[in-house]
Amino acid sequence: MRRVIGFLLLAVILVGLAYGLGAIPGDITATVGTYTFQASLPIVTIALILLFLILYFLVRLAALLLSAPGRFGRGRHQRQQRQGEFAVTRAFAALAAADPKAARREAARARRLLPDAPMALLVSAESARLAGKPEESEADYRRLAEIPDAAFLGLRGLLRQALDAGDWTLAADLARRAELAHPGAVWLRSERARLALRTGAWAEALALSGPEAPRAVMATAAAEASEDPMQAMRLAKDAYNADPTLTPAVLAYANRLRAARDPRRAEQIVERAWARAPHPDLARFYLEPETEPLARVKRAEKLAGFAPGHGESAFMEAQACLAAKLTGEARRHAQAAVAAGLDQRRVWVLIADIEEADAAAGGGEAATFAAHEALRRSHSAGPDPRWRCTACGAEHESWHPACPVCGTVGQVVWTAETAPAQRAVMPAALLSSTATP
Ligand SMILES: [Zn+2]
Repeated sequence: MRRVIGFLLLAVILVGLAYGLGAIPGDITATVGTYTFQASLPIVTIALILLFLILYFLVRLAALLLSAPGRFGRGRHQRQQRQGEFAVTRAFAALAAADPKAARREAARARRLLPDAPMALLVSAESARLAGKPEESEADYRRLAEIPDAAFLGLRGLLRQALDAGDWTLAADLARRAELAHPGAVWLRSERARLALRTGAWAEALALSGPEAPRAVMATAAAEASEDPMQAMRLAKDAYNADPTLTPAVLAYANRLRAARDPRRAEQIVERAWARAPHPDLARFYLEPETEPLARVKRAEKLAGFAPGHGESAFMEAQACLAAKLTGEARRHAQAAVAAGLDQRRVWVLIADIEEADAAAGGGEAATFAAHEALRRSHSAGPDPRWRCTACGAEHESWHPACPVCGTVGQVVWTAETAPAQRAVMPAALLSSTATP
């Protein structure tokens, strides 16, 4: 509407102008050499306007002809771009339909039409992967990883391949780089934590894991692996604070304190742990500095005082007394251990040793008979407690942060149970050492 009004206005002005010019009297005369032109003013005005219009259209035409090849190229490029995008879309559709042949065909077309486009590289890599050509897809992912804006896509592809190949060290490195390229991806963080556990990078696993992870177990393992005494001390303390009933955590911390020349604090930690959950390893650590048998008995008595009446306390005292040749005391403690519920093979074997020591010291027939009787009892007694994985049931000589058989973290517990426990994964509950039968 506005255009129509404008056009009408222009027309009115032009008509008015023409009318005004026509009304002006007079001629224009021009002399060039021997030629003389003479015309009325309206005619000259109209001729000038016509000349201007002709010149204008000539210039436009020349410009159009000069720009023609560029415009043609641009049109071709746009067409190519559109076709390339269609090829990428079709490749994605084929990938979604798990059709490797079609995906490879469309990806090749996309690469030809859009040689520098990250999307074309991505579909090319993915289709090669789907077609079972890991070398080809790896090459594409590598090129993708070099493009700043698409690096994450390339690294993610390489990470997936490393995981498929079981190359945990490479996968951990790629995951680290991928997180740098695109910080904050939650799945990547948990993947990194999983890889850190797999590769035994405990400090890293600890830093990456959430509160649901068995932190005491990981901190203990990290403390044991650390070569920096200060860091090891901090990790061991964290482990102990996270679960003061986890014997390996207690011992990691106590060992660090002892190494740092703070034996009293180390002993206090072990005394407290003994009160919570007595464990033979705690007794070993506590008695270690003492080599004289009678002094060891005194020390055992002191530690037992923190869990009086506990079978483990009585067993430890019985062992110390036998080593000091106090067979009467040893027998009394061993019987107390059985009475406290420790009807285990190791206790009956110890009783047999006590009776044999007595027999050797001139205890006579009765002592020999008692030794045989104790050995007979040891065969029908309950099993000794040991480290066992509650996930797969495998038994281990020593504690492991991750089960060497099934790889589960935080499931190797101290137990005297026989049947494999089918418990749900509850790290905090499972981490506590159970030395009682
Ligand atoms: Zn296991």
